[in-house]
Amino acid sequence: MNTQDLIKIEDDYFINTFTRQPVILDHGEGVKVTDIDGNEYLDMFAGIAVNCLGHNHPKLVSAIQNQASKLIHISSIYYNEPALTYAKKLVDKTSFDRIFYANSGAEANEGAIKLAIKYTGKSEVISTIESFHGRTSMTLAATGHEDYQEPFKAILPNGFINVEYNNIDALKEAVNENTAAIIVEPIQGEGGVNVPDIEYLKEIEKICHEKNIVFIVDEVQTGFGRCGTLFAHELFDVKPDIMTMAKGIGGGVPMGAILATEKVASAFVPGDHGTTFGGGPLVCAAANAVLDVFDEDNILDNVNEVGEYFISELKKLDKDIIADVRGKGLMVGLELTKPGAEYVDKLRQAGFLINCTAGNVLRFVPPLIITKSEIDEFIKALDEIL
Ligand SMILES: *Cc1c(COP(=O)(O)O)cnc(C)c1O
Repeated sequence: MNTQDLIKIEDDYFINTFTRQPVILDHGEGVKVTDIDGNEYLDMFAGIAVNCLGHNHPKLVSAIQNQASKLIHISSIYYNEPALTYAKKLVDKTSFDRIFYANSGAEANEGAIKLAIKYTGKSEVISTIESFHGRTSMTLAATGHEDYQEPFKAILPNGFINVEYNNIDALKEAVNENTAAIIVEPIQGEGGVNVPDIEYLKEIEKICHEKNIVFIVDEVQTGFGRCGTLFAHELFDVKPDIMTMAKGIGGGVPMGAILATEKVASAFVPGDHGTTFGGGPLVCAAANAVLDVFDEDNILDNVNEVGEYFISELKKLDKDIIADVRGKGLMVGLELTKPGAEYVDKLRQAGFLINCTAGNVLRFVPPLIITKSEIDEFIKALDEIL
């Protein structure tokens, strides 16, 4: 079947939830992906900031292949070695003490919020406008987007308050004796790559300490080196109580996790939370390989070096249509003075995959292994297209 006929299957059979780019991707190598018609693209999108090691990374692929031939799934009722070794490896790299394995970002946030509610015995959660925390009813209530929430108002849980991002006064005003948790992204991703003031997270930490509120950072997008440190909250010198992660964790396999301090984690006892698939041997083998490659290949150094270069090259583009260039590491946004969709199309036609978020922000979240020369290729195309 050709591309048009295959795409028609979606029109006829899928529940209609996504606006997709009209290409059928077939295989990838490093930062390049190729569609079924043989067209090659430079992948500046990495499956929404997921494919941190690019495509077909030999160590990731062989870890998955080896594990698949041993065990794929056994449930959380039995131990598996990859989940045990990975827990120690990851937790030891952070200021947290304990892990819970989930399968996605939304599921990690859902569990994090449950943990905060159980720990505090309180009932309200504060999150920010333009945030993104997921599509389950609790995480949707935390996601500060009226348009996503509106059709489901009837089933959204009570107790979620959305306040302006990067506005500490708005947050202080919302805090009250019922506040169980404050959940924020260290840098907002879907909201348009919004980098807060350097004090913002520190101030949140202070409020949380003073009022015995659980400080949750949602690092689903910013985690795993995306912003130049293993986790982005490190850039702001804070120690949250809970951190959630997903996207980059397994280099592309679906996985999520919650990390928590000993004190907060102790609120959960057997029966309070669970999952059938979470922490399975296949995804944990992948996650182990990802962290090993981070160490062996100094991935964070590459993110910092190439990320800085990328942002400085973007700032050199002298176009009336550019309103702002912002980001950290390889999480970069180019705000335009008009909607960005047409540029996503034009770049794709020129062989570059990007996306547009918040209507007018071109978002670049390439694999963390991208090189300066690949950035040069992209900048040249972007320059011509803008
Ligand atoms: C993508 C994202 C989520 C949701 O993750 P899913 O795996 O799609 O459920 C949550 N929080 C942030 C910050 C995200 O970027």
